[in-house]
Order: sequence, then C-alpha cells, then structure tokens
Amino acid sequence: MKLILLGPPGAGKGVQAARLEDERGMIQLSTGEMLRAAVAEGSEIGKLAEGIMAHGELVPDGIVVGVISARISQPDCANGFTLDGFPRTLAQAEALDRVLEDTGVSLDAVIELKVDDAALLDRILTRAAESPCGPRADDNEEALKKRLQVYHAQTAPVAAYYNAQGILRSVDGMADIEGVAKQIADIIDEKRT
Ligand code: AMP
Repeated sequence: MKLILLGPPGAGKGVQAARLEDERGMIQLSTGEMLRAAVAEGSEIGKLAEGIMAHGELVPDGIVVGVISARISQPDCANGFTLDGFPRTLAQAEALDRVLEDTGVSLDAVIELKVDDAALLDRILTRAAESPCGPRADDNEEALKKRLQVYHAQTAPVAAYYNAQGILRSVDGMADIEGVAKQIADIIDEKRT
C-alpha cells in the first residue's frame, strides 16, 4: 500500500504514519524527520534547512525532492510506505509523479486529515510540552502561524491536484487518534479488496 497523508501541521500525520508502520509495515517517510536528522548531523542540507524550518517556511523543492527520491527507491519501501509531510507544493507533487513513474510504482490513495485551524495551536503546544526530547524548534505559536499560512497557500493546492487524479480521500482529523486510525484503516482495507 502506497499512501500519502496530507494535512496541516499538528493534524496527526506523524502519529498515524508511525502506526501504519508498526501495524502494517508501511515505511514512514517523513521529510520533516529526515530534515531534522540532517540538522542534528550538521550536514550541508541540515545547515541550509535549519533556519528555514525554525521560521516555519518551506525548504526548497529541489532539496526535499532529492532527499525523498533517494529514500523511496530503497528496497524496504517496495512493500509499501506512507509519505508524511511530502509533497507540500504542486512542484513536489509533480516531481513525485515522475519519480514514481520511473520506478514503476503507483499511489493507492492520498488521505487528507481535515482539522480546524483553531484546534492546531493546542495540539502543537501539547506536543511541545510532552515531547521527551524537548520541543521542536518550530513548535511554537509564531512558527505555527507561518506554517499554517504556508499550508493554506502552498499545500492546499496539492489536495486539489490529487482530487483531479481521483485518488483523494478525506477523513475527519478532529476525531481522536483511534478514530482517525479507524477511518484510515477503512480506506486502506477498501483499496485492498
Ligand atoms: P514536519 O515535521 O512535516 O512538520 O516538517 C517540519 C518542517 O520541515 C517544515 O515546516 C518545513 O520547514 C520542512 N519540511 C518538511 N517537509 C517538507 C517539504 N515536503 N517541503 C518543504 N519543506 C519541508
């Protein structure tokens, strides 16, 4: 099963993608995690991305497309994956289509987690307070405002792009973790049959 999870920051994409990896072996491909690892490592990509991420802006398309296309072609992704936080722009979605075409893979579904903006700040601040490794540099009110603006301006058109391809599904992301997981599982199981 090859899936994209779309949704604003704090919608729960990471939590659901991690569950899908645990429960179904679908590899979680989080560009945010990959970039945070690059920042922690101090690599060239990390140095370039660090300030951009802290401000809630988007890392340039060429960089994230490079990172994800290297990872998605690894053998462990052949049996299924969940893209979490990618694509975030139309250019990334188009680049992903080309990468998938080259590797002969097609997406099974794109699932959008719909969450009201008003609920996101609470979720992000709770995540910041509960994180065992300390809060992320961008889990604060100021960066969230920017991340939401960026989401509505640049990532919302990505949903329309997949809708036009007929593979977009939406779930109620305001439900609790179990409730969202159930809605996602229903879509996956429907695709399997
Ligand atoms: P996330 O963990 O998905 O919330 O991502 C954290 C930050 O990493 C984002 O606010 C961006 O600065 C950067 N980032 C992650 N994924 C992408 C992407 N697909 N395109 C551009 N920037 C990204």
